[in-house]
Amino acid sequence: MMLDAFLARDILRAVDDGFEEQIAFTEELIRFPSLRGAEKPAQDFIAGELERRGYAVDSFAIDLDKIHDHPGFSPVDVDYSEAVNVVATHRPRVETGRSLILNGHMDVVPEGPHEMWDVSPPFTPKRVGDWLHGRGGGDMKAGIAANLFALDALRRLGLQPAARVHVQSVVEEECTGNGALACLVEGYTADAAIIPEPVNERLVRANVGVLWFEVHVAGHPVHVREAGSGANAIEAGYRVIEALKHLCEAWNAEKADHPHFADLDHPINFNVGRIEGGDWASSVPAWCKLSCRIAIYPGDDPADRARAIEAHLASALADDAFLGNRPPKVTWNGFFARGYVLDEGSEAEAALARAHGLASEAALETFVTPAYLDARVFVIYAGMPCLVYGPTSESVHGFDERVSLASIRRVTGAIALFIAEWCGLEPVEAPQQTARAGTD
Ligand code: ZN
Repeated sequence: MMLDAFLARDILRAVDDGFEEQIAFTEELIRFPSLRGAEKPAQDFIAGELERRGYAVDSFAIDLDKIHDHPGFSPVDVDYSEAVNVVATHRPRVETGRSLILNGHMDVVPEGPHEMWDVSPPFTPKRVGDWLHGRGGGDMKAGIAANLFALDALRRLGLQPAARVHVQSVVEEECTGNGALACLVEGYTADAAIIPEPVNERLVRANVGVLWFEVHVAGHPVHVREAGSGANAIEAGYRVIEALKHLCEAWNAEKADHPHFADLDHPINFNVGRIEGGDWASSVPAWCKLSCRIAIYPGDDPADRARAIEAHLASALADDAFLGNRPPKVTWNGFFARGYVLDEGSEAEAALARAHGLASEAALETFVTPAYLDARVFVIYAGMPCLVYGPTSESVHGFDERVSLASIRRVTGAIALFIAEWCGLEPVEAPQQTARAGTD
């Protein structure tokens, strides 16, 4: 059912009324350096905020035993005892609408050397004109706050969703996707989901899957005075990188087979994100470890592509004077995730387009992204439409990450309007029983 124009106007005004508080809350979130393995203080904070608002809050550490046999699982070599997800649940007095999950991830990527941040230190939020600066502001603490404050705006009008709503704050989005997966395995599903990732107020139509792996290169250590008789593992690592770049170009050449990706310039990106190796400046390095990331197309089975990487390295390096006899070893230590396509024509998408039109006075555009998104968990393993739609942001994963305040306001308005249409609304307070007039 489409929203009444007066109610829509009141909802957007209620978002405006709470906006200063919303941005202060977003700044609070940015102050938590919620890097991988250190998310718990931020998660405890948001759990408290959700409890204070009266939601039933479920905080739980990811249980590897429960998820490691799931087809969406990504392998890990880290401890999950502090990797806590938070799921808050709203239940209506009378369930008449469609249920909804409002999801966001609390983990942020490492900030790099602080002296290379110009505007503000990474975890010290700072407003400059229309921009809010800070690591994780765009990706995606502004989105987590938008989910919460969209519901708050409805409450300010004395209204709440007439359907079950789960507000999720998950971990592990930047490395495995196991946080969102663990919520699904706990049983949290709904008729639709929204993830306000920093995607410039557009809707994600499709995205790639991602594989993380490490390549372990062994060398032959000798004293540097007789370097010619040794084998340098770090230099051998260069040859591994070159081989993987060739594989990446071969995979890009397949893009015409993937309708949503044919028009992208370079859908498959390979990255060596970290190199470790060697022990001593005067010893030819005995080892080198490359931490890598590559994308795969929707429909690709991660296991097939993983085998293709191993086979490619074996054949590309077969004639290498040293690596030919000591092939590098590949291990899988993170994302092992499929890409997804959001089917066109869903009712959820139509409702978001209407909400976006009211909040932004613009048509909703869709786009395809060569990055991982937790939406694959909902779309592939729960058959749910998952709408990745969130604010305009710049320099995510870079220095001086920033998110647009005007954009956060429009997105929060659109989410609140979406909830109103999708879930329907009911008064927060039960209506007073009308006193019966007379007794005769
Ligand atoms: Zn993100």
